[in-house]
Parts: sequence; C-alpha cells; structure tokens
Amino acid sequence: MNNTCVGIVLNNRDYKDNDALIDVLTKDYGRLTFVARGVRKHNSKNATPCAILRISRFYFDYKETKGLQNLKIAEPVKNFFHIQSDLEKQAMGCLMLELMDSLQIEDEGAYDLLEQSLHYLDETKNPYLVLGLYVAKLCRYIGIEPFVDGCVNCQSEHQIVAISVNDGGFVCANCFQPTRHIKKDKNQLQLFRILHKAEIDQFPLIEESVIVTLDDLQDTFSFLMEYSGIRVKGYKFLKQIAEM
Ligand SMILES: [Zn+2]
Repeated sequence: MNNTCVGIVLNNRDYKDNDALIDVLTKDYGRLTFVARGVRKHNSKNATPCAILRISRFYFDYKETKGLQNLKIAEPVKNFFHIQSDLEKQAMGCLMLELMDSLQIEDEGAYDLLEQSLHYLDETKNPYLVLGLYVAKLCRYIGIEPFVDGCVNCQSEHQIVAISVNDGGFVCANCFQPTRHIKKDKNQLQLFRILHKAEIDQFPLIEESVIVTLDDLQDTFSFLMEYSGIRVKGYKFLKQIAEM
C-alpha cells in the first residue's frame, strides 16, 4: 500500500552505511521513525527534505506492526528560510523540536502547535515571544500549567508580587516569603500571565505589544523543566547564542 503524510523532522541520526533514522511528527500518523536509505550520500534527493526545520511530505508503505517505516521518497513542502539563515532563530527552532521530541507528545494538536510556532518564528521580529508561548502551551499540554488567576496559595487576586515554580503559580503579598520567593515587577507578572493564557494563534494580536528576551522566559522554562523532568541541551546552547 502507498501511504503519504506531511510531517516535521524532529531529529535525524546515522544508521547503517549512508542510511539515517529520522523521527518525524506527522499530522495524520502521530510520530513515525523512518529508515531513510542512502540519505547521507551527496546526491540523495531525500537529504534536504529529511533535514530539520522544514515541513516535508513523506511517501512510504505504512506498517502498523513495525517500529521502523521504510521511507521511499521525501519532498519539500515548506522551507523556513529565516529560521535557517538566522543563528538565533535556528537555535530556538532546534529547541522547539528537542522539547517536542523529549516530551513524546504526538497527537494532531501537538503537530499543529509545532507547525504554527515554526511559521510564526520564521516571520516575526519578536521570536522569543513565540518561543515563550510555545513552551507555555507545552506546559498546558502535559498538565503542568501554573496558576495565574490569583495567588496559588490563598486565591487572592490582589497584590500579586511573585511567581513561584515550587508553589505552582502566582504568589500574593500576604503569602510572600522573602526566603522562598523573588519579587517580580508588574511587566514580568503580566508577561507570564499572557504566555500562559494566550493561545498560539493569538500571537499576531500580541506580537507587537511587548518585546521579549530569553531572560523573560526563565520562569516559564523552569515550570516545564521542573515538572516534566526532561532535560534538553538546546536551552544552554540558545543561552550562549543569545548572550553573544
Ligand atoms: Zn496569597
């Protein structure tokens, strides 16, 4: 049987000889691992569509019982030129892929989130806002969303002064403990709430409202890392690039 699907390569690694194994998040089949034969040869037509940070179409014979799928042909659907040509955006895109890969989520919603985020990342001049929204949506996806509708300890909506990863959300002035919490200013609290409340497709509406840096995303990253237990290399790498 001939099958075809559109997908985003999460990672690719050497296999035998000139072959590679590629993990792909697809819209219709969830996550698939393809054996891409000969893809490491210089003249392989499949090499480019099997690389990361693009959307490709894959032709294969779907085998339900087998872990590995044999890739026949891959062809490009969309290239993210701005991500591929900008080192900082590239590091952000790689981190997005690595997070999705590590969390092992693979339904259609996960595909749409990744595709839409890469699309916005490619076009925007405010890329860290896209990354922040993406990380916050991943928190929601795996059920570790922080509480941002009031104080996580007493539910008070007044005098919110801090964000606590340990407590699980906002902290008010009454519950604030100087030994446990760090005070945040109004803008930091507001951004944190926006990241966790807004949907990814609302990005164009908030794109120009606040310019975001990697430092602004520290708490959102801490939530994801702390409660999911995953460790990623891409965050440290992005930090080095952002500080250059
Ligand atoms: Zn409180």
